[in-house]
Amino acid sequence: MIVCLVLNAEEGMGAPHSPATAASLAVATDSQSAAPLGATAEAEAEAAAKGLASLALSNGGAHTGNGTGACQAAAEAEAEPAGKEANGGGAAGAQAQADGAGAPEPGAPAPRSALTQHMLGVSRAVRAACPHAFIVLWHPAAIEDPHLRIDAFSAGASMVSCFPAHLGEALGQLGGLGTSSPPAPSTSSTASDADPTAPAAPTPSDPTAIPCGAPAAPGACVCAWCGQSGLTADDLWLHQPLYHVYEVNRASPCCACGNRVDNLAVHVHEYHWPGGPRPEVRIPLGSAVIVHRRSDNKFLCVQEFADQGFWVPGGCSDPGEPLTRTALRECWEEVGVEVKLHGVVEVAYRLCPTTGRPTWRLMTFYATIPEGASAQPKTLPCFESAGACWVGADQLHTLPIRSPRIPETWFPHFARGGACPHPLAVPREYLAMFADVPF
Ligand SMILES: [Zn+2]
Ligand SMILES: [Zn+2]
Repeated sequence: MIVCLVLNAEEGMGAPHSPATAASLAVATDSQSAAPLGATAEAEAEAAAKGLASLALSNGGAHTGNGTGACQAAAEAEAEPAGKEANGGGAAGAQAQADGAGAPEPGAPAPRSALTQHMLGVSRAVRAACPHAFIVLWHPAAIEDPHLRIDAFSAGASMVSCFPAHLGEALGQLGGLGTSSPPAPSTSSTASDADPTAPAAPTPSDPTAIPCGAPAAPGACVCAWCGQSGLTADDLWLHQPLYHVYEVNRASPCCACGNRVDNLAVHVHEYHWPGGPRPEVRIPLGSAVIVHRRSDNKFLCVQEFADQGFWVPGGCSDPGEPLTRTALRECWEEVGVEVKLHGVVEVAYRLCPTTGRPTWRLMTFYATIPEGASAQPKTLPCFESAGACWVGADQLHTLPIRSPRIPETWFPHFARGGACPHPLAVPREYLAMFADVPF
């Protein structure tokens, strides 16, 4: 059984609707009869975004979810006063404090509409009643308000979006669980692995000691987070980031291979690629990118998986990959945009104390999104990130930042109109250090 609930917090869309109708977009479908949604998914997502009271899937066996546990929970939440639960903590709590103190500080969370507060309450209620529901908070500020993203995921949302195409992709993946192939894997690691000030990356168990790749019996997997049963190992590989991208790290037995692992999400990602284990190749070299929207001095940040805060897009290079290509690839994978690189901001490195050779190198680039390019920053959760969001320099002190040095140093610099320190080439003083690396 797949339960998908779209909570529409966008006011004034299409036909007039109350929070009750907006919250009633629950869809339940029998996963055994579900077919991939295909081309109609986007249109259906668009319909959902306009607050229509029902959303019919195109697989024949689907039905709207009125009467499901999810809808009952939504109905119960509906009966509560709007915003009753929304100031319970996180950024919403900070907003309440800011309100109490008078004028909000620069960068403080934006005021919440009653509808948004209400939908966060509905999300909490549905999550409590239905651990395996796929909950989407549909909000016009989905990529503009980092505090909203934090509060929505903390309230149990699986996805925060404002793009019909992304919602269509999510619905397609939900409908195709067990019937579709996942995208080709990248061999790169995540961004913060490349930053010396970032928390240490979780270390997966030795792949040679794990009999992963041996296919689990069909339907033998049970999700450790939500208890969803009847999954194949391939289903689990799709299900885990789609439903639980924001869940914190947990040590747990792996249902697909039986091993107890330190970080189940990383383990599933790396050792249960459909077709067998493909441990990521981590090399101590990479790129980070400061993506600047000059019109309002905002910077595109990655909302990291597992509630690890925000950071700039970036990560380790694949073997032999030029640094500029790493930068472009990481922007596409982590924040979902194609960028234009303008220059080099800085070079960070570590040297071996005995040989003097670099043991770790990170080049940071300055970029913008080309004018006229259709930019829909990533809102579909996957192993790369929970999504993307524009962040102002004055918001950094109000947000969890995975590794603050680069954002805190350079966001204010560029927001003040500062120039990029180097042209788009290896800075002269680092030519020897990068002599072995394609640019
Ligand atoms: Zn689950
Ligand atoms: Zn396993």
